[in-house]
Amino acid sequence: MNLPPIDRAHQNPNKIAIVATEGAFTYHNLLQTSAQIATKLLENIPDLQEQRVAFLIPSGFQYVATQWGIWRAGGIAVPLCVSHPRPELEYVIADSGAAIIIAHPDFEAVLRPIAEERNLRFILTSETLPSEVALLPEIDLTRRSLILYTSGTTGKPKGVVTTHENIQAQVTSLVSAWEWTSNDRILHVLPLHHIHGIINVLTCALWSGAECHMLSKFDAEIVGDRIIRGDLTLFMAVPTIYVKLITAWENADRDRQQKISAGCAKMRLMVSGSAALPVRVLEKWQNISGHFLLERYGMTEIGMALSNALHGERFAGYVGKPLPQVEVRLVDENGELVTPGTPGELQVKGAGVFREYWQKPSATAKAFRDSWFCTGDLAVVENDNYRILGRISVDIIKTGGYKVSALEIEEMLRTHPDIQDCAVVGVADAEWGERVCAALVLKSGSNLTLETLRSWAKERLATYKVPTKIQVVEELPRNAMGKVTKPNVAKLFDAI
Ligand code: ATP
Ligand code: MG
Repeated sequence: MNLPPIDRAHQNPNKIAIVATEGAFTYHNLLQTSAQIATKLLENIPDLQEQRVAFLIPSGFQYVATQWGIWRAGGIAVPLCVSHPRPELEYVIADSGAAIIIAHPDFEAVLRPIAEERNLRFILTSETLPSEVALLPEIDLTRRSLILYTSGTTGKPKGVVTTHENIQAQVTSLVSAWEWTSNDRILHVLPLHHIHGIINVLTCALWSGAECHMLSKFDAEIVGDRIIRGDLTLFMAVPTIYVKLITAWENADRDRQQKISAGCAKMRLMVSGSAALPVRVLEKWQNISGHFLLERYGMTEIGMALSNALHGERFAGYVGKPLPQVEVRLVDENGELVTPGTPGELQVKGAGVFREYWQKPSATAKAFRDSWFCTGDLAVVENDNYRILGRISVDIIKTGGYKVSALEIEEMLRTHPDIQDCAVVGVADAEWGERVCAALVLKSGSNLTLETLRSWAKERLATYKVPTKIQVVEELPRNAMGKVTKPNVAKLFDAI
């Protein structure tokens, strides 16, 4: 065999790899079951090289064994999202051109008809696996291994193709930067159709011979119970999860609060990423847990690119410096390097960068400039640290000749005592080019008006950054990753 991290599992066969609702499983169990799944796949399609296998399995041992089984059979794994409705599942299955669908019985009702309509092979995880394991193919590491669909924050999700080598580079970079070892024990609470959950948490853990404790879905109370046990070393999540943990902690009694805080104190690292971490959330979580969250920046296409330091000072509102094996630069509209302090588009190069958008050659070609991947995110370097200003397409608002970062305005609005959460967008306007508009979730009892917000904001922001329209909403529109979908926020202002 020649497939890291699967090869590495032989180093610790009797160590626990996965703990989930199904029970505890060793690295040997993973090797054995994934070989059986690979055999079953090869019985269905004898040459699986380059074939896409879509699978929908809740977080746990079955999920991991299936992903490894697909890789060991030579296929390309296409994880589906457990919270996606049928049209989105169909979109990914059709777009990836999957030949086989593997489903947990909970999803049979939605997936079997799709498989039948498209004449695809359909396997349930409850089916018996072959007892004899076939001779599995040697895998060339330059081959495609995974298609992950982007979060769909700015439009239709795109299929991002990575090779085994790309994954290896993404994982080794994080393992060294965050000093993963086989003594680590991580609580996995993230979706498994997205890079954060698959690479940063799951694959880094298995690569390191660590223990990965998987919750089938995020639940703040269960996370609290697990933290209280005091045996975790690592935790990684998106900002919305930290917000939910903060609320749960605030609603808990004093005894439980103290126990959760004590459990957090026993961990060696807590990480946030996938979206900007509001400073207020960072500060509240620090008060609760004692951890100054390590914020990092990455994307489906590149893995992780920038990270605050594991040791040494971390900076709120910043995503730190380039990770090992990653090159980063900032350029202006003409492709010229910008000087520190001047915003520029973040571009990335390195062995972890994806190969292509699945069957979108022109999108792939457009995404690269002289072998640098253009992230579409605007950033600035201040005191040697990168700060993300937002997506050029939806977070950088062009108003009255100025370019304004929605993320900066959001950060300021969140300090208003009446504002629970907010999302700022630019809305087309004949006079200004775009107008700064803010969707607000207000604290209960507040009757904040546009006028009072504007006079408060004018004391804190340049006038052209002050929102000219507000919409009060119960909740911000978010996708399965908990990210605010800005095109949907912009639609809130269509009618006014
Ligand atoms: P789509 O590409 O479909 O619109 P998406 O860009 O949200 O969705 P992902 O690959 O999951 O898909 O997310 C990557 C993006 O998330 C980055 O380009 C960046 O805009 C944002 N991001 C990730 N980490 C951070 C961070 N720490 N701070 C600010 N933004 C971040
Ligand atoms: Mg993107």
